[in-house]
Amino acid sequence: MASIDTKCVQAGYTPGNGEPRQIPIVQSTTFKYATSEDMGKLFDLEASGYFYTRLQNPTNDYVAAKIAALEGGTAAMLTSSGQAANFFALFNICNAGDHIVASSSIYGGTFNLISVTLSKMGIQSTFVSPDATAEELDAAFQPNTRAMFGETIANPALTVLDIEKFADAAHRHGVPLIIDNTFPTPVNCRPIEWGADIVTHSTTKYMDGHGVAVGGAIIDSGRFDWMAHADKYPGLCTPDDSYHGITYAEKFGKEGAFITKCTSQLMRDLGCIQSPQHAFYLNLGLESLHVRMPRHCENGLAVASFLKAHPAVKAVNYPHLPGDKYYDVAMKYMPDGGCGVVSFELKGGRAAAEAFMKELKLAAIETHVADARTCCLNPATSTHRQMTEEQLAAAGVPAGLVRISCGLEGKDDLIADIAQALKAVSL
Ligand SMILES: *Cc1c(COP(=O)(O)O)cnc(C)c1O
Repeated sequence: MASIDTKCVQAGYTPGNGEPRQIPIVQSTTFKYATSEDMGKLFDLEASGYFYTRLQNPTNDYVAAKIAALEGGTAAMLTSSGQAANFFALFNICNAGDHIVASSSIYGGTFNLISVTLSKMGIQSTFVSPDATAEELDAAFQPNTRAMFGETIANPALTVLDIEKFADAAHRHGVPLIIDNTFPTPVNCRPIEWGADIVTHSTTKYMDGHGVAVGGAIIDSGRFDWMAHADKYPGLCTPDDSYHGITYAEKFGKEGAFITKCTSQLMRDLGCIQSPQHAFYLNLGLESLHVRMPRHCENGLAVASFLKAHPAVKAVNYPHLPGDKYYDVAMKYMPDGGCGVVSFELKGGRAAAEAFMKELKLAAIETHVADARTCCLNPATSTHRQMTEEQLAAAGVPAGLVRISCGLEGKDDLIADIAQALKAVSL
């Protein structure tokens, strides 16, 4: 199964003779066994199988296997949300007293997770610019650093991460690079091919793509050698007392240790499982991901080009638009396109942004991106509402900034809608 297209459609599930063609939704919390000895082997991680859906469910495993194939990883798991995926990916290898180096240009929820919630749990962090030099990256590491984190294309700033530069820095300091690859999806970028060790997703976005199911995923490249850094990762490299003294990195190797520990410890203790029904919806989205992404990108580029030439527009951010600050790095990692999200600043500021969005007929005002239907948002009057004008400017979110997530409609219709709405602003 060589191509990404075929993997989107068929990876992860191969029915046997007379079995369902589509993945079955195993709508069962529990599984039956003939003897408690049989079940005991599962609890000891001596045999693989299912006993309780909080830990594993066949529907979820089919879809996780497809996502692992798409990203080129050795193992994967689904979570209840993208937030849960990023929390689990970090908390699986960081304990109180540890430290994370993260790009400052990341999703707001993840920024809060790392800077506020993990800090309350005793895990500290240092944020670095996605544009930092190798020397500046090196300076952010501490002896207790356990992970580096960044987003391929950041939501909402639309900065592009130089994945190789970040991977090299992480590996110089003996820690894995975790990449949130939500925006480009594995159709447009596969961070593992560029040195990332763990990949995460909010599957709520393009992977689902229809605005129906919140979800997340974690994929392990199987490449990071935990045992070579055993002093840093006692959770993977020393016996787990809460699991009969298993040492994950020994028993499951580089390929399986991370996801097995994450499932058998964090999912067991914290929940956050994706429901099998949601996994089924997610799989429907994945079946057409390779067909939808090029159209999102085509529409994004067309809208960005139109906006750039419009007199009411002060600035446009779209990495694949020639002249964008991130154009070269975007073309290196994503030659076929990135995503359908464009942001732009109106000359008229906050008032113009509000007036513009009110006039749009096709694009709906929503706290969402990456949907089949075009949607838009003015961060200053919604997600970043608490901030003053000065704070907004410092955060790179000026009051007149509009984020528009181009859907799958006809691009001429989208541009016509935007053009008529801009007229209201320009009057
Ligand atoms: C939306 C998003 C998240 C959070 O995902 P949820 O599914 O909403 O929990 C994390 N990272 C990125 C890049 C996102 O866009």
